[in-house]
Amino acid sequence: MRDSSGAARRSAIVFALFAVTGCAATLRPLSPLPGPVTGSEGGTSSVAADASDMAYFDSNPLMVPVEGVAPGGVSDSFNEARSDGRTHRASDILVPMGTRVIAAEAGTIMRLSHNALGGTTIYMTDDSGRFIFYYAHLEKYADGLAAQEHVQQGDLLGYVGMTGNAPVPHLHFQAMRRDMSRRDYWNSPAVDVRTFFTLTGRVRASDEQ
Ligand SMILES: [Zn+2]
Repeated sequence: MRDSSGAARRSAIVFALFAVTGCAATLRPLSPLPGPVTGSEGGTSSVAADASDMAYFDSNPLMVPVEGVAPGGVSDSFNEARSDGRTHRASDILVPMGTRVIAAEAGTIMRLSHNALGGTTIYMTDDSGRFIFYYAHLEKYADGLAAQEHVQQGDLLGYVGMTGNAPVPHLHFQAMRRDMSRRDYWNSPAVDVRTFFTLTGRVRASDEQ
């Protein structure tokens, strides 16, 4: 009995390579390496999505933050193991180098920064302030992108790369529940929003060159 298609085998090979070398330790038997979040990722916990999140995403449909990727194309890597007993708590979206990265929701850029694990990163918050969205391993930012800038859903933010701990090009995307009372927002609890993606990544018309 056949148990794998050619596509599945190819996919397995891609993920095996990925697992051996870094972030997306998709195959359990291979040793996981640290996820590419901030240097203080150890403090990040996670909370389950709740009814309020469902209502929020009902009113604010979530877009896959990579051009051309449909919701069904985002694999489940949220609970994968990482070193030191940590879990990933994010989604890895594997696409070719230079693929355009876009805003998953309308919101405001909070911070552009570089760190050892995440490489070139962006923190943004949605318009309601409910979430923080973290984008990591970018090759580079979109021209002129700056902190405090307001962006619309689908606005170009940057390009997929492999900066930080990323052996193959991919976007590491993490949603966190924002707690206005804490200043270390980068340690806010992560929420698995993968099942809330309803829009295929598409660059907003005014951002097309
Ligand atoms: Zn990742």
